[in-house]
Amino acid sequence: MIIQLESGASQQAIAEVEAVLSDIGYKKNEISTQFAKYWVCIGKNEFDIRRIGSLAAVSDVHRVSDSFKLVSSKWKVGPSCVDLGDGVKIGGGHFQTMMGPCSIESDAQIEETIAFLKNNNIKIMRGGVYKPRSSPYSFRGLGQDGLKIWSEIAKEAGVKIVTEVMQVSQIEAMADYVDIFQVGARNSQNFNLLDALGQVDTAVLLKRGMSGTLDELLSSAEYIFSHGNEKVMLCERGIRTYETAYRNTFDINAIPILKEKSHLPVVSDPSHGVGIRKYVSSVTLSSIMAGADAAIVEIHSCPQKAFSDGQQTLDFNQAEKLISDIDKVRKLYSEL
Ligand code: PEP
Ligand code: MN
Repeated sequence: MIIQLESGASQQAIAEVEAVLSDIGYKKNEISTQFAKYWVCIGKNEFDIRRIGSLAAVSDVHRVSDSFKLVSSKWKVGPSCVDLGDGVKIGGGHFQTMMGPCSIESDAQIEETIAFLKNNNIKIMRGGVYKPRSSPYSFRGLGQDGLKIWSEIAKEAGVKIVTEVMQVSQIEAMADYVDIFQVGARNSQNFNLLDALGQVDTAVLLKRGMSGTLDELLSSAEYIFSHGNEKVMLCERGIRTYETAYRNTFDINAIPILKEKSHLPVVSDPSHGVGIRKYVSSVTLSSIMAGADAAIVEIHSCPQKAFSDGQQTLDFNQAEKLISDIDKVRKLYSEL
């Protein structure tokens, strides 16, 4: 059961709720987020929920039996919207396309990408400065110095940044420069990292693990939310299957199902989801028809020269065509 407390409830009114919980044998976990104070209550006994709902300190109460609770749509029926400021919102009817290279490579690359994004009214730039690579000899990113330069140029241009954080020790230094922390597929169940991201005020884009189930993804999101950060987005980025014709299997089913199970915004990552340039646009458009609230797409002025993931990266002409197709498909989706 989740209880949302009235803001400004008196000590006495709160004590009344505690007394009923103790009477029905439920234990509470208190969670204060940016937006509200919740009690996630665990217990087995049957009781009449109106005993809680009628109390003065209670603004809302729901039974939620899943292992993930605060991120469940059984708790919050309407969709959540992650507000990044300056009118940039994701979810609850607001759609964003995020574009940029797999890896941040140089000042010149940042400048030309931002110029492209500005020309095409794209508000969020993706890019990795800490790269999880299968081989330790591959390019692993420009790190904090690259992030600082990128952030300076992006702020000046009014473009938001989404970038991967790989470990707890990076969070504090990165937080001032980042608008959305990405948790990569390989860290989807790094519970220490999720705990720590629950304690910052920055939005989090949480990717599904390569072999993660939807319930596991939702439970990972619960880690972040339950430490006080409500600004969480779920991301389908493809899973590993027996199919070898492409890099990953983009699980289109995940999108409507996640949106039904959770109120959190759902983001599609077709670049990693299929892993082959010529299919990225059609997978992106399909994900929009499936209900995605945002898409994150890898682009580069010269994908053949990209330091990472060039084979799945669109060039600027392809990206421009995709942006115009996204507008058409979004319109169609909104008319359904
Ligand atoms: C990326 O976004 O470049 C990336 C490494 O993603 P994932 O964690 O989904 O592999
Ligand atoms: Mn990549």
